[in-house]
Amino acid sequence: MGTTFGAPTRKENELAELILKNNRFIEKIRFVSSGTEAVMSALRLARGFTGKSVIIKFDGCYHGHVDSLLVNAGSGLSTFGISSSAGVTESVAKDTMVLPLNDRRAVEIAISDYREDIAAIIIEPIPANNGLILQDKEYLEFLRDITKKNNILLIFDEVISGFRVGFEGAAGYYGIQPDIITYGKIIGGGMPVGAYGANKEIMSHISPDGNVYQAGTLSGNPVAMNAGIAQLKICLQKDFYSNLNNKTEKFAKTINDFAKENNYLFKIFRIGSIFWFAFTDKEFVKTSSDIESESMKYFREMHKDLLESGIYLGPSGYEVGFI
Ligand SMILES: *Cc1c(COP(=O)(O)O)cnc(C)c1O
Repeated sequence: MGTTFGAPTRKENELAELILKNNRFIEKIRFVSSGTEAVMSALRLARGFTGKSVIIKFDGCYHGHVDSLLVNAGSGLSTFGISSSAGVTESVAKDTMVLPLNDRRAVEIAISDYREDIAAIIIEPIPANNGLILQDKEYLEFLRDITKKNNILLIFDEVISGFRVGFEGAAGYYGIQPDIITYGKIIGGGMPVGAYGANKEIMSHISPDGNVYQAGTLSGNPVAMNAGIAQLKICLQKDFYSNLNNKTEKFAKTINDFAKENNYLFKIFRIGSIFWFAFTDKEFVKTSSDIESESMKYFREMHKDLLESGIYLGPSGYEVGFI
C-alpha cells in the first residue's frame, strides 16, 4: 500500500487537462511539489531556452526560497543583487538584478546595459507578499513589450494570483500573455503542489524532450492531483469568481466606510479575493518603499486585539488575507 510510487498517473493528465482547457495563456504544464520548485524550474527553463544567465526581479516581490532570488538590491549604482540570507553565496546572488517596482526607467537602463545577459524578468503580476502593491496594467504591458523586443522572457509568478483573481489568474485579469507562468497553492487544494507552464515551444526544452533537466519523486503525486482536481472543479462552477469578488468587496467596503467615518488612518486594499490591511493615508501603494515600517506597530496592536476576540489574522502587517 502507498499513496505515491514516483511514477506518472492518469490524475496528472486529468488536472492538466482541466487547467489547459480553461486557460488560454499556457499550452503545456508540468507539476512539481511547491511554488519554490516551480519558480526554480521556470528560471532554469528561461536560462536554458535563452542561453543567458541574469534574472531581473523586483524589490517587494517574493518567489519562494530559491537561492538566486533571496537577494536584495545592491547599493549605489550596482543593480546586481546582494545575498539576503545566510547560506546564499555572492556568486549566486550576482546572477540576479533587483529593481524597484513601478519604475520604467530602471528597467530600461538595466536592459540597455545588460541586454545580452538577461534571460528573464520575473514578477508577481499582483505583488501580494509584501503588502498588496498593485501595479498598473500599463506597467505590466510595458514589461511585456520591452522583454519581447529584447529577446528576454517574461515570467509571471502566479503562485498566489493564479486561480485566485480568476481561473486564468493575473494573465487573464490583465489580458497579458507572459512566456512562462508559475502556479502553486490553490492548485493543490491544500496539498503540497506547484506547477509551471508555457507554450509548447518553450516547454519542449524540458527533459526528456529537451536538455533542461527537471524531475521530482513526489511531483504530480495522486493525493495532491486529486485535491487539485476537486478544488479547480469548484472554481469552475458558474459565478464562483464573481461571488467571491462580491463577498470580498462587501467585506472591504464595510470596513473602509467605517474607517473613513471615524477618520482612522486605515484602509483595505483589495483585488479579487485578496485583501490587505494598511495603516496609511496613501491612495496607492506601488513600491515596497511606499510602506512605512512605522505603521506596523498599529498592525501589531490590531492583531493582538483581534486575536483576543477570536479572530486570527496573518501575524505580520506585510501579509495579505484571502476570502
Ligand atoms: C508562496 C509563494 C511562492 C513559494 O511557494 P511555496 O509553495 O511556499 O514554495 C512563490 N511565489 C509566490 C508569489 C508565492 O506567493
